[in-house]
Amino acid sequence: MLVHIKEIVAKAKEGNYGIGAFNVANLETTLGVTRAAVKVRAPIIIQVSEKTIEYAGLKPITHIVQTIAKNEAADIPVALHLDHGHSFKSVSECINAGFSSIHIDASDLPFDENVKITKESVDYAHKHGVWAQGELGRIFGKEGLVNGNFEKLEEFLTDPQQAVEFVEKTGVDTLAISVGTYHGRFKGKEKIYFDRLDEIRKAISVPLVLHGASGIPDNELTKAIEHGIQIVNIDTSLRVAFTEKLKETVNKETDYVDPRKILGPSIEAVSEVVIRKIKHLGSNNKA
Ligand SMILES: [Zn+2]
Repeated sequence: MLVHIKEIVAKAKEGNYGIGAFNVANLETTLGVTRAAVKVRAPIIIQVSEKTIEYAGLKPITHIVQTIAKNEAADIPVALHLDHGHSFKSVSECINAGFSSIHIDASDLPFDENVKITKESVDYAHKHGVWAQGELGRIFGKEGLVNGNFEKLEEFLTDPQQAVEFVEKTGVDTLAISVGTYHGRFKGKEKIYFDRLDEIRKAISVPLVLHGASGIPDNELTKAIEHGIQIVNIDTSLRVAFTEKLKETVNKETDYVDPRKILGPSIEAVSEVVIRKIKHLGSNNKA
């Protein structure tokens, strides 16, 4: 069932487990994510990006998630969230469309501008009873700096004292932080700076969100939760699972002309990854 994100996050905090925020792009990925959550009885966040909205349309993708949450996942709490909104326009459109949470990402701007832009979206969100996620520090990769300089990463990690100021000035409900992960596939380059995470966790009390978590080993996810991360975004792993299975299917079954036969195995491949991630976050059997 569709619920407000605050219900899911409150229960996870109480029960000391992490919540997966899974990106979807179409009907098939939404089915893959939701069926996995139903199977292992996990509360989940389903998130869409501006690119997905551009691809599918805001109304169609919103309705796909809402309808599947209401029907396929009637017994499982599902929250709908905008991932990486880059403007007040896209944030407000999602709020008006019925999302219970949005992410306003102005983290590539100087601190004061980030505060200003984030605050505007937070105020609008709160006026409508919606949660807002801000972002502080730079998360390299596809959605951040495309040609991120890996050598300089440490300079871009979230500063704990700045995080205190950012949360106070903006009133964000959750905070995306930079602690060493990347958006996209950078196997072997990524690690979590746990000391930095601990410092941030001690400094602020809002739920912390780990982005770019596809590239770290699954057991690091469990450790991140133990160190105070509450929400983990998973996107790339799902895309990889979907696409690799799709290639395998069309290469093997060259006489298939039925999209359902071609896409069906990819739905299952997405589910498998989601189940694995959920188990490492500890949110299975919590719905
Ligand atoms: Zn992200």
